Amino acid sequence: MRVAIDMTGNMPPNDSDGSGPRSVAVVGAGITGLVAAWELRRRGVNVVLYEASGHAGGAIRTTHADGFLAEHGPNSFVTSPAVESLLQQLHLEEDVVQANPGAKRRYVVRDGRLVPFPLTPSSMLGTSLLSLRAKLRVLLEPLVRTRRQEGDESVASFVRRRLGHEVLDYAVDPFISGIFAGDPETLSMAHAFPRVAALERRFGSLSKGLMMQRRSLAGGESDGGADSMPGDTKGHLMSSAAPVPARLVSFVDGMQTLTDTLEASLAGTLRLGCPVRLVHRQEARWLVDAGQDGASRSRLVDAVVMATPAHVLAAMELPASMRACAAPIERVEYPSVSTLTLGFRRQDVAHPLDGFGVLIPAAERRSLLGALFSSSLFPSRSPDDCVTITCFVGGARQADRAREDADLLVERVLVDLRQLLGVRGEPVFAKHVFWPRAIPQYTVGYQAVKDAADATERQNPGLYLAGNYRNGVSVGDCIASGQQVAERVVAYLARAGS
Ligand SMILES: Cc1cc2nc3c(=O)[nH]c(=O)nc-3n(C[C@H](O)[C@H](O)[C@H](O)COP(=O)(O)OP(=O)(O)OC[C@H]3O[C@@H](n4cnc5c(N)ncnc54)[C@H](O)[C@@H]3O)c2cc1C
Repeated sequence: MRVAIDMTGNMPPNDSDGSGPRSVAVVGAGITGLVAAWELRRRGVNVVLYEASGHAGGAIRTTHADGFLAEHGPNSFVTSPAVESLLQQLHLEEDVVQANPGAKRRYVVRDGRLVPFPLTPSSMLGTSLLSLRAKLRVLLEPLVRTRRQEGDESVASFVRRRLGHEVLDYAVDPFISGIFAGDPETLSMAHAFPRVAALERRFGSLSKGLMMQRRSLAGGESDGGADSMPGDTKGHLMSSAAPVPARLVSFVDGMQTLTDTLEASLAGTLRLGCPVRLVHRQEARWLVDAGQDGASRSRLVDAVVMATPAHVLAAMELPASMRACAAPIERVEYPSVSTLTLGFRRQDVAHPLDGFGVLIPAAERRSLLGALFSSSLFPSRSPDDCVTITCFVGGARQADRAREDADLLVERVLVDLRQLLGVRGEPVFAKHVFWPRAIPQYTVGYQAVKDAADATERQNPGLYLAGNYRNGVSVGDCIASGQQVAERVVAYLARAGS
């Protein structure tokens, strides 16, 4: 491997600052790294952003073909004050499209039929999603004793204990698939849904806690937001951070508008096709070695932001102090997921697709994890006489399914769509994307990962970790992660006198 060392550590010209010696390498140009780099540059820091693949955006990517719009990864995201301010700064307000308010309904499959998820207490009483016995069990929730045992608990154990097994199977399990493509038996309640878990600790009951929260919000107080409960219409099916008022949005031309705009505003900063292989401390600075085999370059910088997926750290050459701390981070699980964006002639789909989409509990034993009614949610996702349905397969419990060949996957998914949505014909459009490692799983014991990330940063001054394995998996969480890490880096550079 040829290594040329650029000892100046200087970036190609930054519009905001051509002179200062402060330089930062950001590793990974997903939404987290793009926002971190953009925010650092806005604050006058010299930035170089390394991306292993040939394009920026990471999980965010949009394809346009034959009049259809297909999202490879996220289809929408929930705004927060921080997100709104980013959209403003990027002058993207005009490009934002809000999800169709008429498409709030979420369907859940029970006994092979689509049932609207009850969004209000009164619709909960009338729903056929839960048996009478399960509804009575929900009403008894305030009487359930608080857990005395210390330590982490799975989402499944928490929900079974407080609300009963039927609520777990038909109200919570499908939403876990919608966010994490995960398994409630292994996900940690405290880490995957920290604010819901806190309701029990603080109020002794979820229903009491929700009531108190609603009262304090009505009185003008804010606790900084709450995890959405199943059926909450605010989010990425069930978001982990959604202060009110939040909007569910995308862009006229799809999610990639956001990352394309960030990329364009980072001109001269981004190095595509440049995987970082080595990060080492060199006196008070950091040596970063990046590039394809045979043509790598090293650069000395004052700080490094690692904004890659957690498992990537395992393949890098890192300082011994970091390697020792980082082991739990490298082991974070990311199950495989396949997304299939299918277009049908409108006349070939019996269901009105009048909602957000449909989620399928594991108990229903189907290939599909869930499907979004994408052309009902956002305009211009398909030609006028067609509809788009975005299907998800795989996840923590059926990862092998996600790896199947595209034709077989379409066949399997069509079996479910025919039975559930009355799809008759063949798709007129199909786009398959395989994510070998899709979404990090905040499993029981995840505190070890968070502690490892904190310890890594403490023991390696100037090295920072950011991304969807730290403080939430949603696009909004990643934007916040990028903004926060940039703030911490700027404070470090000021302390270090760079
Ligand atoms: C199928 C799917 C559907 C989703 N749906 C939604 C949704 O509807 N709403 C929502 O809010 N969220 C959704 N999410 C979650 C959200 O999209 C992700 O959590 C988020 O985009 C991750 O961003 P990131 O920047 O942290 O990581 P990534 O997007 O994974 O970016 C990391 C980047 O690092 C690069 N990299 C890796 N190794 C190196 C290296 N050695 N050197 C340099 N670069 C490297 C990678 O190539 C990649 O570009 C979904 C995710 C998936 C996969």
